[in-house]
Amino acid sequence: MNAIQRSQKTLKAFRLLKAGFKTSIIVNDTGLKPDYIRSLTKELENVQLKGGQLPEAKAILNTHFASIEGYAFLSTYLTLTTKQTSNHLDLDVLARAYQLYIKIRNQCELCKSSNTSAIDINEAWVLLRSFKINNIVFHRCRHCYNHFIIPADKQPNATCPFCYLKRKVS
Ligand SMILES: [Zn+2]
Repeated sequence: MNAIQRSQKTLKAFRLLKAGFKTSIIVNDTGLKPDYIRSLTKELENVQLKGGQLPEAKAILNTHFASIEGYAFLSTYLTLTTKQTSNHLDLDVLARAYQLYIKIRNQCELCKSSNTSAIDINEAWVLLRSFKINNIVFHRCRHCYNHFIIPADKQPNATCPFCYLKRKVS
């Protein structure tokens, strides 16, 4: 890596740290060393270093709402990227899609009234990566025609979160 490439990757690492990505994701994307990423964090105000393991997609999708939240994020990402078929995962686009997902979510009455949590940006990364390697898939309910996401190996028996919530409130 030459000096210009390193400067560009350092600036990207700053952006990704501010966006809230875990160190492991930033290391993976930029090729910069973990210690260097840690040293960058000290230069930023109000940014905490986020270490620890990433959850599995199945663990994130363990509630009915999470499969709706995940779909809302992924469809926002796919709207913003032109590289839908590529396995490349653009973290700058992911961060923009995540901000948009949160903005849309803040306007959603169901989200406010049900008091559920948004997925965080690192969970969004896990879901996007899993989607790109077909570990999770979009699924359309045959009854209400709404879309949501599920682990690929669960497809034939998927319980629709929208139908479930409708039954719960009626
Ligand atoms: Zn349904």
